[in-house]
Amino acid sequence: GKRINSAVNGALSNSQDDYATTVDHMLKAIVTALLESDVNIRLVSKLRNNLKSKLIDSKSDGRSVSNGQTKKVIQKAVFDELCDLVDCKVDEPFQPKKKKCNVIMFVGLQGSGKTTSCTKLAVYYSRRGYKVGLICADTFRAGAFDQLKQNAIKAHIPFYGSYTETNPVKVAAEGVAKFKKEKFEIIIVDTSGRHQQEQALFQEMVEISNVVKPNQTIMVLDASIGQAAEQQSKAFKESADFGAIILTKMDGHAKGGGAISAVAATNTPIIFIGTGEHMHDLEKFSPKSFVSKLLGIGDIESLLEQFQTVSNKEDTKATMENLQQGKFTLLDFKKQMQTIMKMGPLSNIAQMIPGMGNMMSQVGEEETSKKMKKMIYVLDSMTKEELESDGRLFIDQPSRMVRVAAGSGTSVFEVEMILMQQQMMARMAQSTKAAQQSGNMPGMPG
Ligand code: GDP
Ligand code: MG
Repeated sequence: GKRINSAVNGALSNSQDDYATTVDHMLKAIVTALLESDVNIRLVSKLRNNLKSKLIDSKSDGRSVSNGQTKKVIQKAVFDELCDLVDCKVDEPFQPKKKKCNVIMFVGLQGSGKTTSCTKLAVYYSRRGYKVGLICADTFRAGAFDQLKQNAIKAHIPFYGSYTETNPVKVAAEGVAKFKKEKFEIIIVDTSGRHQQEQALFQEMVEISNVVKPNQTIMVLDASIGQAAEQQSKAFKESADFGAIILTKMDGHAKGGGAISAVAATNTPIIFIGTGEHMHDLEKFSPKSFVSKLLGIGDIESLLEQFQTVSNKEDTKATMENLQQGKFTLLDFKKQMQTIMKMGPLSNIAQMIPGMGNMMSQVGEEETSKKMKKMIYVLDSMTKEELESDGRLFIDQPSRMVRVAAGSGTSVFEVEMILMQQQMMARMAQSTKAAQQSGNMPGMPG
């Protein structure tokens, strides 16, 4: 990711040449960097061609373009192209129906994170009011049932499995029959995976699929497998026509570039990403955050991207202008909060705001949205002068905090927390501006 930005900067700094040469240099650098992030070579060259025509076209108006602008144009173009690649839209995405029985089957290689992701998904739906059951149809690996059982107990999810039955097809069929009878709304079937893509595994998968008749099949893909993702997902698609992908281990070093080819090769969307071993470490997939991470674009930039798409144009303009000057007022903060509340899924967005990511991982989404509403109350109780300020007048006159706390039905501590967050953002805006002036991306070594 960072390499991509360094590449872009590098290509720019030594070019007094004409636009086309600059574009060419930068594209070469980007291609190398994308390949190093495990993006498939055919996709990279397709991307390169698309970009080239786009960028040369955009220049045909003959206006002179500064290096800074060129860089922005190219970054935006790369960003958009990658988003298009990974944002796979299906006509009728699977939606579990309440009061119906929805069977979801998991497939994927051993160690990819199936059992973990099954529990995460069960927790996800259970919190949304569905009656969810888990079935362990992995009779191949010793300890598989114990693992699922422990996860399920911890998450308070009913489960089914067997220590003695060796036929996974039978276990799956029995489990589904039992949960169906008990009017479960979502039945999640965990299957076995093996080290290699053995024929026996695929055979077993087909047989299980035939008896449980899944409404949705999900393939679990480990983000760290790199280029192998394409071939692996193709092989699975042939035997188990999965309709969605969960990309796991995105909390590690892997940028997940390989997943782009899995999406492209199977024309199947990624629906969630796994971001840790804990049962709550599941996030809705967002193409923009994914690509931001892949490109190593500063969090604040991807936040702005999202921000722009949902917020009122005039509001965004003012905030953008402030940010460009390295400023971030309480009013900007308030607008941002309001926009974020409109944006959802909260967890993706929250990760990009300093201090919010932590807040999210400790509490649930509903809890966070309550907190954010409270923050808006606090901001509503501020005067225009206070909102348009950098917040420092609160530090000079703490009595203002007492007034705002009383007015919003919160505590001084809560007001202080909001000021702290806004101050963090303001510092970030400042350093982003400083970095831009010195020609570096935020967070990049000079
Ligand atoms: P399975 O063989 O496909 O069922 O894989 P498991 O669910 O047993 O997971 C294999 C290992 O990967 C376990 O140690 C999990 O804790 C770990 N794991 C699964 N998903 C994630 C994730 O999103 N992040 C991290 N860091 N570890 C994960
Ligand atoms: Mg397993």
